[in-house]
Formats: sequence, structure tokens, C-alpha cells
Amino acid sequence: MTSTNRTNRSILLASRPQGAPTADTFRIEQSPVPSPGDGELLLELRYLSLDPYMRGRMNDAPSYTPPFELGAPLTGGAIAQVVESRNAGFAVGDLVLGPLAWQDYALSDGTGLTKLDPAMEHPSHALGALGMPGFTAWHGLLKIGAPGAGDTVVVAAASGAVGSIVGQIAKIKGARVVGVAGGPDKCRRVVEELRFDACVDHRDPGLAEALAAACPEGIDVYFENVGGAVFEAVLPLLNIGARVPVCGLIAHYNDAGYVDTEVAQQGPDRLPGLMTTILKKRIHMEGFIISDHQAEHDDFLRDVGGWITEGRIEVLEDVVDGLENAPEAFIGLLEGRNNGKLVVRARHA
Ligand code: NDP
Repeated sequence: MTSTNRTNRSILLASRPQGAPTADTFRIEQSPVPSPGDGELLLELRYLSLDPYMRGRMNDAPSYTPPFELGAPLTGGAIAQVVESRNAGFAVGDLVLGPLAWQDYALSDGTGLTKLDPAMEHPSHALGALGMPGFTAWHGLLKIGAPGAGDTVVVAAASGAVGSIVGQIAKIKGARVVGVAGGPDKCRRVVEELRFDACVDHRDPGLAEALAAACPEGIDVYFENVGGAVFEAVLPLLNIGARVPVCGLIAHYNDAGYVDTEVAQQGPDRLPGLMTTILKKRIHMEGFIISDHQAEHDDFLRDVGGWITEGRIEVLEDVVDGLENAPEAFIGLLEGRNNGKLVVRARHA
């Protein structure tokens, strides 16, 4: 089949969501498959990564990544196969990782693409445990959280792409690990499959009491992925000298206040209470954005790749079939419907 008689579906940002994204946030469009020019490749999508930060890019607000353009395809980490090449650096059949649009086919001049090892058993892991979320977990936990043997480490969004790796690395380092996840099924998997010591359900109204009971010696490291009620329950339990890697605040991504600081500042002023706790308990709280730490990437791959090979890290992946199902899967990610790293498997994978 030539590139001219195939269809290329693209998923575009149709409107900027106010609150949670809905089906109207997205639009699917069809166009002919483009042909590569000199120096270009035609890429066919295999796996698409869906990540919480994409919600922030749907807002028209300055952040560490620019907003998605209205009416243009969404973009994100993806794995694709080279199906036509007019670039000497790539051959037909090469599997590549890079930032790509949410579409079946894309042209590229090779910029920003990394070739994946053709012997890789699970290429989609390059979007999860061996990709950006795994790197985030490794850096945030080891460089900021620095857990010691016997420390109590609490991990928010514990069954997710980042949290599932954080907790397992903390176990390898000899810590006692308590997860926080949404619902009894996720909590069960966190304990049985990921081998955390305990897991509490943040949907349970008794969260604060349950967390206190699960952490009888307080909390030495809290890996912050969500904010909101989970952070409220954690704060009084932090020990003197506790470390808090601030990785994400997904509970707030759909809030108006997340992009508008004036709205965020309405309501009773609770900052003095927070600052007093940070001061009196000498808490080290550090925000980080993983793209700032590229120099550590080889060390991460060596560590986490080794632990997966040795069977010390279990990879939880939630695979959704079909590019057309990416919008609904993304909506579900913000509602906690995913179990592990959420990836979309394209029709050719
Ligand atoms: P996950 O795979 O963990 O999926 C998101 C999960 O967040 C959901 O499954 C849900 O799990 C949980 N969640 C959603 N809403 C709430 C809520 N209101 N309260 C508590 N939990 C909620 O996503 P990732 O592992 O990819 O990302 C985790 C965090 O890490 C995000 O905040 C993300 O933005 C951040 N991140 C930051 C990076 C950085 O460089 N700083 C890089 C990568 C990710 P449950 O059902 O358990 O509630």
C-alpha cells in the first residue's frame, strides 16, 4: 500500500476545557497520509503515552511547557515505526521514540527521535517504567526523598506510572512503604503486586485516621503526586527533617485556581499553618521538573533497567487499544480510571 491511499487520523484540541476535559475538548480529523520529502521519514504510530501534564497544556497559560494550540493536533511522548525513509540516518523498520502528534502517521526530519533497541521485549515500557515517568520516580525519590533503611515512605497515586516505581525503589532501599490510591482494588494491587507494606484509600472518608494508623512512626518521605486531601492527611504526620519531593498536584489540575493565582488565593489563608509546619519540623520540600535532569538519564536507565531485569520491579501498564480511544482514556486518567502507566496501542502495533 502506498502512502497516498491510506488515511491519517489526527486528534485535535477542539476547545480549552473549563474544569475536567470532556468529549467536546477533542476532535478527530482525517487527511491523506503525507509523503516524505528529501531528508524526511514517514512514521507510523505504535504507542502513545497519555500523561497528566497534558491537562496543563490544554490551558492557555504560561508554564514549563507551552500550551497546546487550539485546532492543532495534541502531542506527547510516542513510539512509532519508520515506514518510509528519505533520511540516511533511519531505515524502514526502525522503532523510534520521540515527541509526536496524536495521529496515525507523521513526517519527521529525525530531530528529537531516539532509536529503540529492536530486541526490546516491551517497547511500550520506554514510555513508562523505562521512560519519562520512571525517570521522574527515580530522580524524585533518590535525589530529593533520599530514603534510608527503616524510613517510612508514603507515595501518592501509588498504582500509577510514577508512584508504582517510586514505591518499589523505596522498598529496594530498605524503607517501609505506604501507598495512597483510589479504591480497594487499586490498594489491593499495590500491596499484592507491587509489594508495598500497606496502602490506604484516599476515597475513604477516614483517610486521615487510616494513614496515621498505617504510619505509626510518622512519615520520613512523602512523594507528592496529587495535593488536595492526601497532602492534608500527610502534613500532620511528617517527622522532623522529612523530605517531600513535589512531583505533581493532579487533584488540582482541573481547578480554575491552578492557572489563576487570584482564584487560588481566595478562601481562608492557610499558608501560615503550612509554613509553620515546614519551619518547626525542618521539612525539605522541593519541586522538580524531570526535563531539567537529563544528565542523570543514563544512571536511571542502568538502575531501573537492572531492577526490572532482576525481577525486583514489577511494571504495571494499562493499555487502551485504538488512537480513537485516546480522548476517553485521557479523561479517565484524570478520574483515576487507569491502573498503571496509561498507553494507547495504535492499530499497527
Ligand atoms: P498516574 O498514572 O498516577 O495517573 C494519575 C492518577 O492520579 C490517577 O490514576 C489517580 O489515581 C490519581 N488521581 C487523580 N485525581 C486524583 C485526586 N483528586 N486525588 C488523588 N489522586 C488522584 O499518573 P503519573 O504517574 O503519570 O503522574 C503522577 C503525578 O506525577 C502527576 O501529578 C503528574 O503530573 C506528575 N508528574 C510530574 C513530573 C515532573 O517532572 N515533575 C513528570 C511526570 C509526572 P487514584 O485512582 O489512585 O486516585
